Amino acid sequence: MEVVPTKTHIALLASPGMGHLIPVLELGQRFAVHHRFLVTIFVVTTNASTAKSQLPLYSSYRDLLNIVFLPPVDVSDLVTDSMAIVSQLVLIMRHAMPILRTEITELKPCPSALMVDLFGTEAFKIAEEFGMLKYMFDTGNAWFLALSLYYPHQDETNKHGHVYLHKPLNIPGCAPLEYEDTVDLYFQPEDRALQDDFAKMGLDMARADGILVNSWEYLEPKTLKALRDPNLLGRLSSVPVHPVGPLIRPAKPVKDPVSRSAALDWLDLQPAGSVLYVSFGSGGTLTADQLTELAWGLELSQQRFVWVVRPPIEGSAFGSFFRQDKRTEDGTPDYLPDGFVSRTREVGLVVEMWAPQTEVLAHQSVGGFLSHCGWNSTLESIINGVPMICWPLYAEQGMNTAVLTDHLGMATRAREVGPGGVVGREVIEKAIRRVMDEDEEHGRLARAKVLDLKHSAEVALAKGGSSHGSLERVAKECKTGRT
Ligand code: UDP
Repeated sequence: MEVVPTKTHIALLASPGMGHLIPVLELGQRFAVHHRFLVTIFVVTTNASTAKSQLPLYSSYRDLLNIVFLPPVDVSDLVTDSMAIVSQLVLIMRHAMPILRTEITELKPCPSALMVDLFGTEAFKIAEEFGMLKYMFDTGNAWFLALSLYYPHQDETNKHGHVYLHKPLNIPGCAPLEYEDTVDLYFQPEDRALQDDFAKMGLDMARADGILVNSWEYLEPKTLKALRDPNLLGRLSSVPVHPVGPLIRPAKPVKDPVSRSAALDWLDLQPAGSVLYVSFGSGGTLTADQLTELAWGLELSQQRFVWVVRPPIEGSAFGSFFRQDKRTEDGTPDYLPDGFVSRTREVGLVVEMWAPQTEVLAHQSVGGFLSHCGWNSTLESIINGVPMICWPLYAEQGMNTAVLTDHLGMATRAREVGPGGVVGREVIEKAIRRVMDEDEEHGRLARAKVLDLKHSAEVALAKGGSSHGSLERVAKECKTGRT
């Protein structure tokens, strides 16, 4: 009787949030398509309706991946208003562990490896129990990974200088991190729970058999070298680091009727490279005052734009998908300046809540991206050769901004904050012109730089490229069950 070899089976765990889920699905897909692995993806959600609203996203992955939604985790009794998002995610993931363990017990064959994102390292205990290899997939960049690994070992002088004297933070072997570009953690020095949670994640990930990072050698050579150098960050963690990026959801072909939306139809009518795409990620929004200034900044710049808008929420960077808003006669949502839609009809399109971002960025009419600089949005911009205007809101987006502006030169900063923490309309107008205006030297250089990075990404992902090679090495480990 012919013996059919058992396929290698691996499991991946995605924490809540599109920014974590999309790269995890992409990583799983690579293993399924390039290495013919059986891939199970566990998705942690906090409520059934959010999970349902994400369903269209899964349709393109369904045939290749075994996607398992864990029952929604309810930690509402334990979450307080002042609790940082990181701490909330840690709590949610901790409460998802018992059911994850049960689900893994039922998987046949037992996976040889478990890959988790930044918030899933608690699951390493389960991987150890079942004799699985354990990997952490950092869906952000290598510099953020370096900070995460360094944080639990951070020298107090360095820490206090950074926080209280606003001095740059020196992560061994990496570029200095300016205070204003730092992660939320350092802006809330009194939040001990947040610090403990972040430190624990850094220590946990140093126990992994490997760390995959959504970056590539050409993008962050200095940081990747520091991570591997036994005299620098390699001293704190000897875990092999595998840059496998950029892993992003590719755009569907522009002619595909399924992905057509009003935004794409509108873009078809615009000149090549003329449109600024404005979006703040899967949930980000601005305050009411800031939305008004941005609207005026766009209008003053006289550039074409597609703007994904969400209602403002005071004191929070997260939008609400459930708020019902009124519109004035011309269709302007009530939180934008009166008559905005009719005044900008010739040059702009306002899209409420959500746009097919990868398809928009791949459209030939798009020539710039004003973004909160989430890492997925950043990679999508690079892979489509679109220079950026950075408007970081929270998490590690300030670090991403520093990478894109100071390290790589493919972006400009929008946020020179004015009175009341609001970026003024003239500042916004100038930033937009700097990138979109054909006569502007800055925009020309940023465009050339981003095209160079796009090319380097394609090379890294192609057969023989550095990211392709990293993924092959990890796949080999998963096949043999050892590193
Ligand atoms: N996204 C989208 N349409 C939108 C807003 C966001 O398709 O209107 C997608 C975007 O393409 C990206 C993800 O949602 O893949 C957002 O991830 P990112 O890391 O940029 O930011 P986050 O939402 O995690 O802050």
